[in-house]
Amino acid sequence: MSSATSFSRLLGMIVLDKIGVVTLKAFVMKKIGEVGWAEKPVPECGPLDALVKPIALAPCTSDVHTVWEGAVGERSDLTLGHEAVGEIVEVGSFVKDFKVGDVVIVPAITPDWSSLEAQAGYPMHSGGMLGGWKFSNIKDGVFSEVFHVNDADGNLALLPSGVDPADACMLCDMVPTGFQASEVAGVEYGDSICVIGIGPVGLMAVAGAVLKGAGRVFAVGTRPNCVAVAKEYGATDIISYKDGTIDSQVLKMTDGKGVDKVLIAGGNVDTFAEAVRMVKPYGSVSNVNYLGSGDFIKIPRAEWGVGMSHIDIQGGLMLGGRLRMEKLASLLVSGRLDTSKLITHRLSGFDAIEESLLLMKDKPSDMIKPVVIL
Ligand code: NDP
Ligand code: ZN
Repeated sequence: MSSATSFSRLLGMIVLDKIGVVTLKAFVMKKIGEVGWAEKPVPECGPLDALVKPIALAPCTSDVHTVWEGAVGERSDLTLGHEAVGEIVEVGSFVKDFKVGDVVIVPAITPDWSSLEAQAGYPMHSGGMLGGWKFSNIKDGVFSEVFHVNDADGNLALLPSGVDPADACMLCDMVPTGFQASEVAGVEYGDSICVIGIGPVGLMAVAGAVLKGAGRVFAVGTRPNCVAVAKEYGATDIISYKDGTIDSQVLKMTDGKGVDKVLIAGGNVDTFAEAVRMVKPYGSVSNVNYLGSGDFIKIPRAEWGVGMSHIDIQGGLMLGGRLRMEKLASLLVSGRLDTSKLITHRLSGFDAIEESLLLMKDKPSDMIKPVVIL
């Protein structure tokens, strides 16, 4: 059976055009600053790959940086989206552990697991800087009636029974990115930390740091729902960046000592200076924020111990892949992490993708994260 015939049978929503080519509907970045719908060819499923039909999708602030700030450069008719739970509609002949009909969590980062970078312990950079970030960056993303996943055995994870696909959709990017902030910073039991930004990523940074044993947790943000949920995840002190510099507030509340670790999940290129000013010597600053604009990051010389502070400044892209997804899913199964608190807007139907992305762009004050259920 040809690939085109099998799709027609499985999906019933694909259009066979005049010359017999199968096409799909997708929501795309047409060019910097412009989004819209497009008909695109069905992707080829290679021997190690899978094709997946989404059942829950979420837009990401990264899509907003990519489209409206042009942060990774010009793209033409690139399908957006990298957060999806879906049903497998085709698997390649070498795929061992997944079959058609399986419902899977798809990580935002889908590395090539045989790459040298993956062997070195940095799969997110497989093939070069940020090379594991394929969806909605270097290949079509998941806002499509069907999308392609490379290295299916290495990258997909079965959705555990009893887990809501919308909750699981938070595992694709929000949870691993937020948790990455603690991992990169090396959060330890009793550490005092400051999480800058408490959108969905920062909220997962708070939750991840608390799971790792953080003590006092400052959380920086203003949207009321985000503030309420940050407290539920374990923030002990809330700071508004609109009430003065973050560092001046944290230093005042810590008798001038500062915090052990700063986790950055919001702000801009100037946020690093604030972070360095309030972190202790030998502390660490970790960034998972996607810096969409600005050419340089400035480090304040004196507060950086005139270059000898032992303050560790790092940025990291989330870890992708199946093992990470399975382990994070186990936190939902065991009840140790409740991602449903992040979901403030539930939209339904494929056409709602557009509305969900515009919500993410406009950030109404009651929003944390929208999900589209298909
Ligand atoms: P949101 O826009 O929802 O949250 C941003 C947070 O930063 C809000 O709490 C906001 O406060 C706060 N903020 C805004 N301006 C400042 C400022 N000047 N100083 C301090 N805090 C500020 O974003 P998301 O949580 O969805 O995403 C966070 C970042 O993570 C984005 O840049 C996103 O692209 C990136 N990202 C990175 C990934 C990775 O793998 N590294 C993957 C996914 C996302 P307020 O409450 O006032 O809105
Ligand atoms: Zn994202």
